[in-house]
Amino acid sequence: MYTPGRIERRSTSQVMVGDVAVGGGSDITVQSMTTTKTADVDGTLAQIYALAGAGADIVRCTCNDMAAAVGLAEIIPRSPVPIVADIHFQYKLALAALDAGVHCLRLNPGNIRKPEAIKTVAAEAKDRGVPIRIGVNGGSLDPDIERKYGLTAVALVESAKRELDYFEQVGFDDVKISVKASDVRLMVESYRLLSETVDYPLHLGVTEAGPPPAGILKATAGIATLLNEGIGDTIRYSLTADPVTEAKAGRQLLEALGLRERTGLDLIACPSCGRAEVDVIKVAADAQAALEDLGLAVQVAVMGCVVNGPGEAKGADLGIAAGRKRGHLFVRGEVVKVVPEDEMVDALVEWAKKISAEGIDVALADKDEGAAAMAEADRRAVIDDQGDDVNNSAQLVELIRKRAQRPSL
Ligand code: SF4
Repeated sequence: MYTPGRIERRSTSQVMVGDVAVGGGSDITVQSMTTTKTADVDGTLAQIYALAGAGADIVRCTCNDMAAAVGLAEIIPRSPVPIVADIHFQYKLALAALDAGVHCLRLNPGNIRKPEAIKTVAAEAKDRGVPIRIGVNGGSLDPDIERKYGLTAVALVESAKRELDYFEQVGFDDVKISVKASDVRLMVESYRLLSETVDYPLHLGVTEAGPPPAGILKATAGIATLLNEGIGDTIRYSLTADPVTEAKAGRQLLEALGLRERTGLDLIACPSCGRAEVDVIKVAADAQAALEDLGLAVQVAVMGCVVNGPGEAKGADLGIAAGRKRGHLFVRGEVVKVVPEDEMVDALVEWAKKISAEGIDVALADKDEGAAAMAEADRRAVIDDQGDDVNNSAQLVELIRKRAQRPSL
């Protein structure tokens, strides 16, 4: 079984967003943002609970008017996760959000530009022990910075540095920073440059990534590239979709990179081929639907044939491979039961629960006597039927070699 090495993370200072640590070696966190009007307290809280359930550690809400700030005062004491207030243009709304008890502010240096206003907010945040994210966005850069540097990584980083200068003038350093862009390569380049320039924790994101699936691909391309280089302390997928999709994507990315412990299902499935003895796409979709809301931290494999399936997925906690109208259920590659084809998904659910409740060893000890022999007989029968080279690769290789040996014309 493959055991990946740990990603060496860049060292940073640490900020506390409520009781959640960001940077300084803490777990990388997942963020998302509500799409409700913040003044709608019950609607916003319902979405915050859904986001927390989907894996968000921190949630941001817009604070775009005084009604939103008043809403925050009611939301924050009832929220299961820390709340960040998103501020644009009006520094007085940042002060109102601080009064509401917000756990962090996000300021956009591109649209709050008066030094006195920025310093007033930073001084107030300092008094209250509340961190601020400097949220630079390639689409809303300060015009004089953009005139000087163009839309470049240097411009995004300069924008963050200018804001940091104001903060330093009032002795405030409880900071995390983002330099988001909708262009993936500009985003990657900007964060790389920023990580060489400062040692504050970094919030990663590709802004305006768009609707899934392309939006998820774009965001993953940027965020995963940086995480693999050890850059990044908290992440957000900015998708044009239900924000629950953002939280799930963030969580799944961190789990896939081994940066957070798995808390839910990891379904792997073969892509199917000429050997498949079952509709793999349908069985995998049925298995996903049956398993994903059970909250079981198991890796489950759905494989289309018994010839290659169990071997290729032997690292999975649990799996099923189809052959001769039956499903061979295996735990860590060892066949534990053979079931009729139409019971494959039910068997996966039953054994996923068993593994979660009792562990792999107990599940293995509970295997059906004779299951392995029955499975091997099926496997041999399939190989005898199809041969062990169903794609005729050996024959093709022979043909290629023969042609290569012919004299040239
Ligand atoms: S497990 Fe079997 S059906 Fe699936 S891709 Fe591999 S050989 Fe094909």
